[in-house]
Amino acid sequence: MQTQTHTHHLQLVAGPCSAESEAQITACAQALRDIGGLVFRAGLWKPRTTPGTFQGVGEKGIPWLLRAERETGLMAATEVATPEHLRLCLDAGLRCFWIGARTTANPIMVQELADLTASRPSAVSRLYVKNPVNPDIELWIGAIERFRKAGLTDIAAVHRGFSTTQAGEYRNAPLWSIPIELRRRMPDLPILCDASHIAGKRALIPGLARQAVQLGFDGLMLEVHPDPETALSDAQQQLTPNEYHRLIASIDIPTQALPDRELTELRQQIDEIDAALWQLVLERQQAASRIGIYKRRKGLPVLQTERYAKQLEARLRWAREHGLPPETARQIMQALHEAAVLKQLTES
Ligand code: PEP
Ligand code: MN
Repeated sequence: MQTQTHTHHLQLVAGPCSAESEAQITACAQALRDIGGLVFRAGLWKPRTTPGTFQGVGEKGIPWLLRAERETGLMAATEVATPEHLRLCLDAGLRCFWIGARTTANPIMVQELADLTASRPSAVSRLYVKNPVNPDIELWIGAIERFRKAGLTDIAAVHRGFSTTQAGEYRNAPLWSIPIELRRRMPDLPILCDASHIAGKRALIPGLARQAVQLGFDGLMLEVHPDPETALSDAQQQLTPNEYHRLIASIDIPTQALPDRELTELRQQIDEIDAALWQLVLERQQAASRIGIYKRRKGLPVLQTERYAKQLEARLRWAREHGLPPETARQIMQALHEAAVLKQLTES
């Protein structure tokens, strides 16, 4: 564990999934206090999927977070899911919040929270907006814009993965292309990775956190609990403070360098491959169009399920044999097939 206070180059948010008791909050914040600039998180109102599970301690935990702030100098953050939550916290003096994945998916609630923020200028110091549970970047951007319009300037996005049928080993599918697209659309917006909620299991957290930092994310939101085994929510995905300190200390942060000759040449190779690839995609579409004309002439339906299933199967097998991620192969095949089908429906 660190002995000296130091400010990390990443934006760090860490703390338990839920505030459970004053002792747990105090112990956890003390264990993290050495990392200057860290924001201490703890959920008070828990938007749990299943009724009957621990729903959070609610308002009762606000003084615990204020005490943690006083005693450690860290800023505390909690999730607000309704204007009432936000009002209670602001009246008590909390300043930092996150919008949970289920709330981001609800524009009416987001707008009500934004309106309250606008009516209390400067009361909110920083806001984290998690991605919506469903893979819809417009909802994510829309929520961020609603808070920007309300006058908030210190906003960061938090990538916590998406509920899909293709999450594989993860609790929530990372779908990296969505935060990558967010970076393209809002280049100045800091993006943090909540590897805990993507992973769902402790063992997968370090790998995901490293990937996010390598990718160029600005920080990490991670769940840390003094005794994860006994946690009342998300027990499988919380790190001990020691595990957290070890992970953070071991992460290398890439530096942003200007492209040199070597990189320019390597990129040239990619550009040439892409040019050939796009030419082939164009030729594939032209071939699809000729088939479309044939199908129309013979009165055949555009969708030939059996042929498509065979093609997809063959590509997935080929991908596995050649070490290409099957998920990538599936996405490419699906996109090519969809483009061909649309071509046959609309143009042939
Ligand atoms: C949480 O941060 O504990 C939480 C409930 O997250 P999410 O909204 O990402 O599910
Ligand atoms: Mn959680």
